[in-house]
Amino acid sequence: MSTRLLLATRNAGKLAELQRLLATAVPGVEVVGLRDVPEYPEAPETGATFEENALLKAREAARYTGLPAVADDSGLAVDALNGMPGVLSARWSGRHGDDAANTALLLGQLADVPDERRGGAFVCAAALVTPDGAEHVLERQWRGTVVREPRGTNGFGYDPVFLPAGLDRTSAELEPAEKDARSHRGQAFAALVPVLAEVLTD
Ligand code: IMP
Repeated sequence: MSTRLLLATRNAGKLAELQRLLATAVPGVEVVGLRDVPEYPEAPETGATFEENALLKAREAARYTGLPAVADDSGLAVDALNGMPGVLSARWSGRHGDDAANTALLLGQLADVPDERRGGAFVCAAALVTPDGAEHVLERQWRGTVVREPRGTNGFGYDPVFLPAGLDRTSAELEPAEKDARSHRGQAFAALVPVLAEVLTD
């Protein structure tokens, strides 16, 4: 069997991660990204929740390409901020994708929050939409705390200030494979694999 599955992202790391997870569970599936399909107009992420945003992106991708499509949406939900930055994580400081500014703003907001109330979670929703309109979405969390000073150079986004529960290194101090094995995205993709296996081999 040879099936193409679109993962609606331009991030090569995410593509490799999903491809690795699918290799054993559903052999013969080729995971392609947005760079591998004709460009289409991408709507802004207007959803109120990670699940909504992931579904919006997967629906759009399936509609424009005719391929079964997976999309993820993720962010950091901080308890002391009532779950924010949440779906606004990428643009928390006002500029989309400015990791340093987003992190600096978050640390400033939490400056007076004591250590025992600095908990939060990275959250990832992963959605699958097939061209016939079937939809699946699920969400996974990775709990931890927000430290006071950035540490580590791996990863991206808030990784340097996120200390995963049970570890003594921030997620920016983990090797990529260590992070994938534990992270919100790794868990969400892994949970989607059995669904993909069923849908793609039907
Ligand atoms: P997106 O789902 O790729 O759009 O990510 C949204 C934003 O959430 C990113 O820009 C980061 O700020 C944050 N984020 C999501 N996942 C991670 C992660 O694994 N590490 C660090 N930051 C993350």
